[in-house]
Amino acid sequence: MVSTCLFCRIAAKEIPSQIVFEDSEFLAFKDVNPQAPVHILIIPKSHYNTLLDVSDFTMLGRAQQIIIRIAEEQGIAQSGFRIVMNCRDDGGQTVYHLHYHLLGGRFMAWPPG
Ligand code: AMP
Ligand code: ZN
Repeated sequence: MVSTCLFCRIAAKEIPSQIVFEDSEFLAFKDVNPQAPVHILIIPKSHYNTLLDVSDFTMLGRAQQIIIRIAEEQGIAQSGFRIVMNCRDDGGQTVYHLHYHLLGGRFMAWPPG
């Protein structure tokens, strides 16, 4: 764990969050500043700064499998949803602990801002 990392601290339960899913490898919790009726962040409990720091890409597949399960549980699988991973500054990344956004419950415009 990186003691100064916000999402490591959330994963360690040092900072409270609204958890919707947890297993030994991942934590999913509600975004504190939701951009859609459903806005959930899915993080590996292990710290990676960005997508560029991943070497075991099967981890991302496991994360997306969990995202599908959460989308079904949240009732947005049929209507549709968007998953987003912002990477570095131009991608809009603000928290440097790898995470997916799961967004749904409304129509998502394209292109993104
Ligand atoms: P990104 O801009 O892709 O790095 O996304 C970071 C996300 O983390 C933003 O959508 C924030 O609203 C969210 N966020 C920041 N702090 C917290 C927190 N304490 N609990 C839940 N979500 C948070
Ligand atoms: Zn971290």
